[in-house]
Amino acid sequence: ATHEETLGFQTEVKQLLHLMINSLYSNREIFLRELISNGADACDKLRYAALDNDALYEGDSELRIEIDHDAEAGTVTVRDNGIGMSRDDVIENLGTIARSGTAEFLKQLSGEQQKDARLIGQFGVGFYSGFIVADEITVRTRKAGSDKSQGVEWRSKGEGEFTVADIEREAHGTEIVLHLKEDAREFADDFRLKSLVRKYSDHIEVPVCMPKVETAKDEDGNDIEGSETVTWETVNEATALWVRPKSEISDDEYKAFYKHVAHDFNDPLTWSHNKVEGKLEYTSLLYVPGRAPFDLYERDGARGVKLYVQRVFIMDDAEQFLPLYLRFIKGVLDTRDLSLNVSREILQQDPKVDKIKSALTKRALDMLKKLAKDNEAYQTFWNTFGSVLKEGPAEDHANREKIAGLLRFSTTHTDSAIQDQSLADYVSRMKEGQEKIYYIVADGFNAAKSSPHLEIFRKKGIEVLLLHDRIDEWLMSHLDEFEGKHFVDVAKGELDLGDVEDEEEKKAQEETAKAKEDLVKRVQAALGDEVQEVKVTHRLTDSPACVVLPEHEMGFQMRRIMEAAGQ
Ligand code: ADP
Ligand code: MG
Repeated sequence: ATHEETLGFQTEVKQLLHLMINSLYSNREIFLRELISNGADACDKLRYAALDNDALYEGDSELRIEIDHDAEAGTVTVRDNGIGMSRDDVIENLGTIARSGTAEFLKQLSGEQQKDARLIGQFGVGFYSGFIVADEITVRTRKAGSDKSQGVEWRSKGEGEFTVADIEREAHGTEIVLHLKEDAREFADDFRLKSLVRKYSDHIEVPVCMPKVETAKDEDGNDIEGSETVTWETVNEATALWVRPKSEISDDEYKAFYKHVAHDFNDPLTWSHNKVEGKLEYTSLLYVPGRAPFDLYERDGARGVKLYVQRVFIMDDAEQFLPLYLRFIKGVLDTRDLSLNVSREILQQDPKVDKIKSALTKRALDMLKKLAKDNEAYQTFWNTFGSVLKEGPAEDHANREKIAGLLRFSTTHTDSAIQDQSLADYVSRMKEGQEKIYYIVADGFNAAKSSPHLEIFRKKGIEVLLLHDRIDEWLMSHLDEFEGKHFVDVAKGELDLGDVEDEEEKKAQEETAKAKEDLVKRVQAALGDEVQEVKVTHRLTDSPACVVLPEHEMGFQMRRIMEAAGQ
């Protein structure tokens, strides 16, 4: 080996290694899934790159992953003939965590959270999970298409630094050798490894192979010395999961596949698998994650589906196929309608992309509607992604009504900060004669709940939605009606309770207004230009006065958002 240098891991890697080794001990078998997943990604990438340049296969186009072990030496080896890495790639990929926002996320974790395996899993533990079972890892790799002298060896004990050196390497692709810790030697075992491959990696399209040693026998049935031959046996199913018929796929297989595509450690909440033939031809497998990624609200956060064209992997994070308000959906789209050499630029112009997008949007919304039948699961979804879904009515007019049906609110019916009431629930409880859906927007739940604007509604037993999310006013400005009932902000304009009020009450109100004309004039004079108008109101039953906005005026919350945005 030449040109050897020792480099330090990026700080975040050190932190991640430390957290992982401590919190994932009881899940340590997942290292194999992670390394196989990387090998499969590497094969996908080579197949894609070779579309333009067959020579990259270097005469070896049967992509595969091999898993080997040596019980005596205590090693497990995971090898692929995929794309491989250059020296720069190795330093970048196996020395840092490339995804943005990770550092901040790690800093925010409390001591308790650091012990939570599922939280750590949010990064996709990836390559570094090898160090849960190994006290040293050696990686040998060469980028497909590069000269044999361009091989790279990476070595590390996972303790803060790693070494890279140039080596000669005949084969392209990557080989990862795990030197197992004393207490993890159980993994250097044929049976154990085989069952882990079946458990976690059946759905990987690339064959995962293990060696089978056969010895020729003599006439008496004894082994003939020196006659061992090794054949490589495929141990996984090795068909892309989404291609198989739904009826043959178990829930566990769907879940395992989710972990591979979403780089998530946790189970998904639900999924929807569809094969479409006709004008459009595609297969989609969409998932709703159970947890929010840490970059959900970041402009350049990862989103979109994994795109395949006729089974060939094209790109990760193809964001053109789902609207922004469904950016939490993960999954795979495989289509015959695009050409193999699509690029992100072409995706932006192709009208077929829009058609698939609107079809996938419907699928995703239907999947959520189905999920909503399970109250507990839906509440988990809503608490995690509800405020993202609230961006929907503004972004997607065509599906406004559908999205509205998926929204959940706090209301005076429960007087709880938990948003768990649907608009259908509200409508089913509407008073006789009530024509509108009433809501109030405030900065926080308590401010909404104790607003004087609600007094008359509480007295009459009319339910009001208590909106207290930052985005709620924005949401309501894009929702006109639900099931034909208009939305009314109780803090704006004239208050019309429709037929819920009877004639007598109206008459009494008019009389009061007349009797108090003098008082109104005096208050108006005292407040001068600070208000537009002073009126007698029947909104209040206990409080003496409140501020009301004109009907078409921007609300307080919106004003603050606009001001914050520098408008
Ligand atoms: P992720 O797979 O989520 O990107 P990992 O930690 O698993 O994160 O891997 C980090 C990066 O290292 C990968 O994105 C890839 O670029 C590179 N890498 C890891 N394993 C391989 C491999 N077998 N062949 C080629 N590149 C690899
Ligand atoms: Mg990975």
